[in-house]
Amino acid sequence: MSLSSQTILHVAIFKPLRHCFDYLLPDNENTSSLKPGIRLLVPFGKTQVVAVLLAVNQTSCIPPEKLKPITAILDEEPIFTPAIFELYQWASRYYQHPIGEVILGTLPVLFRTLSKKNPTKKIIPKALLVTPRQTQSPLALNSDQQTAVEKINSAPGFETFLLEGVTGSGKTEVYLQVIAQVLEKNKQALVLVPEIGLTPQTIARFEQRFSVPIIALHSKLTNAQRRDAWIRASRGEAKIIIGTRSAIFTPFTNLGVIILDEEHDQSFKQQSGFRYSARDLAIVRGRLENIPVILGTATPCLETFYNSDTGRYTRLLLPLRAGSALMPSFHLLDLRSKQLEHGLDPQLITVMREHLQQGNQVLLFLNRRGYAPVLMCHACGWSAQCLRCDARLTLHHRPQRLVCHHCDKEYAMLKICGACHSPELFHLGVGTERLEHGLKAHFPYTEIIRIDRDTIRHKDAMEHALTQIIDGKNQILIGTQMLAKGHHFPNVTLVGVVETDSGLYSTDFRATERMGQLILQVAGRAGRAEKPGQVFLQTHQPDNILLQTLIHQGYAAFAKVLLEERKKAYWPPFSYLALLRAETKKEKSALDFLLKVKDISKDISKDIKLLGPIPALMERKAGFFRAVLLFQACDRQVLQRYLSALMLRIEALKIKGRVRWSLDVDPGEMG
Ligand code: ADP
Ligand code: ZN
Ligand code: ZN
Repeated sequence: MSLSSQTILHVAIFKPLRHCFDYLLPDNENTSSLKPGIRLLVPFGKTQVVAVLLAVNQTSCIPPEKLKPITAILDEEPIFTPAIFELYQWASRYYQHPIGEVILGTLPVLFRTLSKKNPTKKIIPKALLVTPRQTQSPLALNSDQQTAVEKINSAPGFETFLLEGVTGSGKTEVYLQVIAQVLEKNKQALVLVPEIGLTPQTIARFEQRFSVPIIALHSKLTNAQRRDAWIRASRGEAKIIIGTRSAIFTPFTNLGVIILDEEHDQSFKQQSGFRYSARDLAIVRGRLENIPVILGTATPCLETFYNSDTGRYTRLLLPLRAGSALMPSFHLLDLRSKQLEHGLDPQLITVMREHLQQGNQVLLFLNRRGYAPVLMCHACGWSAQCLRCDARLTLHHRPQRLVCHHCDKEYAMLKICGACHSPELFHLGVGTERLEHGLKAHFPYTEIIRIDRDTIRHKDAMEHALTQIIDGKNQILIGTQMLAKGHHFPNVTLVGVVETDSGLYSTDFRATERMGQLILQVAGRAGRAEKPGQVFLQTHQPDNILLQTLIHQGYAAFAKVLLEERKKAYWPPFSYLALLRAETKKEKSALDFLLKVKDISKDISKDIKLLGPIPALMERKAGFFRAVLLFQACDRQVLQRYLSALMLRIEALKIKGRVRWSLDVDPGEMG
């Protein structure tokens, strides 16, 4: 083969490597079938792997004698659309993540695994079965909903909307009616939700409304079903796809709208590997496809709030609850010097009794599972710690054991102190299990339903519990944030927030914002139908200004105060952040590594502020020592250029010992 006629295939491979992978096209293959986005089978080391074609070139950065030919072409047509291809490339650049992991890591697994019998087998999905459904008619919109629907439907192309509607204001009805118009134009809709297993009610509402093929991408789908869903969306057969964050990469032939429900939810940010934000990618994708994007929430995250305040997003307000429901009333319970009963103010127990006697439900929110968060020695003050983390162990009663909530390791219950061997061990603090136990004594004849990661281990358990709650009367519901999200419980009239203050102490600059969101979300479960709701918050800081603003003036006022603080402290959205995390088995090595990174990055740019390195908030976790280095910039592009240069330098570093490191652009958590 002569050099001039050489066809070089630039591909992506599922490896965490940044350098490029090039292969040769064998002489007998035809270049006309080589569209970027098709899959190829290529030799890699001693094995064969699936690769995705990125580009066809004449030259390579690899010496020609080292190039190998591909083994086979697997697809005739690309497995994703040009818009998705652009989205992948954008995400790889923006998050500084190897393109191979970005593409192959977000594709349905079966697209990158080889069939043993026939590795070059073509994929033919089964025909889609359309089962005609009974459809429910749309509700008559109130004027705020009407305005929202009209504005969204009249968007000429790309536009980001913040649908800021209080809990129970009928945001879902707005989504449904926007989608109805999208379907009329024979286009498709993508709906992203935080945790699909937790929201069967939402999915049911979509299925009851439309008689078009809808696919919910939930965790119970098999790999084959997942691949078929992908293909059906890309062929235009599936009209509505509902999924969690990774569904943002689903290809569509004719996408008409992207809806992100509960946009403030942290689960839209991937916290490991390829750390993308599905919310931010939804907006990028909306621009690429030239379609509207709707971010819906009662409690927008501060970045989103700021973007709507400055006019980048169009703000649509639903200030009132839909139908006849009213917003709940808020009451602070001052815990100072009070004798608590299993963590509860006796006054709250009295109020609970009143609501239950009227046949209503009571929801208690406590974001800590287990029986008690501390097991302590009365003789010497020692407390049970995880051997692999800088963390205390949580006591669980049924079954009795000690559990680390950071690495999930379980330990047998201790009979004696680990330091002085005294048998006098006692527990401190309250978790959901203890709350349930304590309430059984107060309300022996009331059904108590606890919802946390220990009682709800799979999707069916959640569905069962939700049915039990929706059909039930005078019950007590106890739950962690699993119970706070998006559910519609018509019989809940009282919400008690057992621990309000934890968010006021954290060192994470996002902690207060999250506390406010969580409180309003939980509070939003109260009084969603005809019966008015009450919310009681237990606090040791009843005069706290932020708390007062939140409950008396609402989320927007609260967000404005927080934004002022962010501005003074130069935190996002007034600056842009990237966090470099490192972890090592050996103490100090992670910190040393980051010091070295700091050293080699000194001359890249003067416009980047480096903070750290410092040990992570929890320095040791699951047996690793962790440290962080923060990069801060006032301009996104400046930060991006800096990070690209930095990645090359880090990869060229000769490091002694094994260091696991990762870069997090726009980090959600600082630890
Ligand atoms: P959100 O998503 O904002 O929390 P939902 O869409 O779940 O609110 O609506 C809350 C309740 O109000 C639901 O029971 C819904 O059926 C009802 N609802 C929504 N819009 C209307 C309307 N225009 N008229 C009457 N009831 C409505
Ligand atoms: Zn002791
Ligand atoms: Zn642990």
